Amino acid sequence: MLSKAYRKLSYWRRSLGIEAQAVRIERISRMQVTNEEGKPGAGLVGIVVDTELNEAVIVTTRALRDDDVVHELTHLTNPELDHPQVDRETSRLLVMRNSIYHGNGVKEREY
Ligand SMILES: [Zn+2]
Repeated sequence: MLSKAYRKLSYWRRSLGIEAQAVRIERISRMQVTNEEGKPGAGLVGIVVDTELNEAVIVTTRALRDDDVVHELTHLTNPELDHPQVDRETSRLLVMRNSIYHGNGVKEREY
C-alpha cells in the first residue's frame, strides 16, 4: 500500500522539481491522534520537516490520495502560503496535470 503512495510521491517530487528533497511517508494509527476534546481516534495528514536530517516526513492516518501528496508538498515548496492558499495551489496543479495527461491522448507518465 505504501509503495503506491511512494510512486505518487516520486511523480510529484519530479513534477515540482524537488527530487533532491528527501521525503518519507510515515503511516500512523488514528489512536495516536487526538481530536479537539483530546480523545484519540482522529484522522490526520500533515508534513513535518526535520531540518537536522534535511528530511520531510508526510505523516498520515490513511492511504494518501494524489491531492494529499500535492497539498503536503506544496506546504514544503511554499512555506509562506496559508492553508486555503495551499488548497488553491493544489487544485491548480492537479488541473494542470490532468490537462497534460489528457491533452494529447498519450499518458506522459505512469505512476
Ligand atoms: Zn495544509
